[in-house]
Amino acid sequence: MTVRPMVNRDSQFFWDGTQVGELRIQVCNACGAKRFPPGPACQSCEAYDRGFEVASGEGTVFSYVVHRHPPVPGKELPIVIALVDLDEGVRMVGEVVGAGASDGDIAICDRLRVDYNRVDDDLTLPVWRKA
Ligand SMILES: [Zn+2]
Repeated sequence: MTVRPMVNRDSQFFWDGTQVGELRIQVCNACGAKRFPPGPACQSCEAYDRGFEVASGEGTVFSYVVHRHPPVPGKELPIVIALVDLDEGVRMVGEVVGAGASDGDIAICDRLRVDYNRVDDDLTLPVWRKA
């Protein structure tokens, strides 16, 4: 079993993106402001006219935690959860996986690149690897 993200009308475009290997950031069509997490209205100009752009998939570790407890369904602990500053200027949270993703190996300002973990036909999660 895997913890599944909530998909709603505001975040559907994001999950449609991960299915096809795109990291999508919501963009306000009225003023161009980017935002994450996605929501119905722009926090800069309050417009509801929203679109998205595809991010480069590269970013920097702003902060991270090593999660040891409590247990997470479908996960072998510990796992590294990072706040990632995308090069496009928005911040998102994600798991760091692969070589170098353990305690002491990861550091603030490390460069990360997005990858995709296909859970099943309906869900692909973005994950991060050290660049
Ligand atoms: Zn706006």
